[in-house]
Amino acid sequence: MKIICIGRNYAKHAKELGNEVPDEPVIFIKPSTSLNLEDEFYMPTWSENIHYELELVIRIEQTGKNISLENAPKYYDKITLGIDFTARDLQMQLKSKGLPWEKAKAFDKSAYLNSLIPFNKLKNQNEITFELKKNGESVQLGNSKHMLFNTNELIVNASKYFTLEKGDLLYTGTPAGVGSVKSGDILTGILEDKTLFDLKIK
Ligand code: ZN
Repeated sequence: MKIICIGRNYAKHAKELGNEVPDEPVIFIKPSTSLNLEDEFYMPTWSENIHYELELVIRIEQTGKNISLENAPKYYDKITLGIDFTARDLQMQLKSKGLPWEKAKAFDKSAYLNSLIPFNKLKNQNEITFELKKNGESVQLGNSKHMLFNTNELIVNASKYFTLEKGDLLYTGTPAGVGSVKSGDILTGILEDKTLFDLKIK
């Protein structure tokens, strides 16, 4: 199982980190060891600046390669919210040297995920709203209609390079408002009007 993550998929977020808006999806992979299904995140000792990135996440339901836009919807039917934890200090260092981001993005337990919800249970599948609160205060507000590349387009592009396998996860990118966490913080994820998680930072 692998986790396919999309960077810079919301224009405002690309700008807040000083990045250009891409003309093709920015893709990176996290390994299975990065998955965290528990409602606790332990701060790594080697970073001074861990950021949350709230994202819509879908699970791939069948194996596929070179998937067409028309067929893409057949490859997923569930959605949830996840957090792509990022060691921003290390990522900036690596980026400035032109080196790969893996240590900053793909470390153990860096991909938090909550339980999956059938797509057809959503109120509005075309404009999926989501929100992150930190210690009760709203810090990220997202709407899937603002994605630069929608889920189907991401599946088409990712499957050109990587065989998608049943059980793979696709993190579709984060909206603006990313920021740091510290021990004691609580992150609350809200999908449409439902609270999906309360994640404790340890
Ligand atoms: Zn992300």
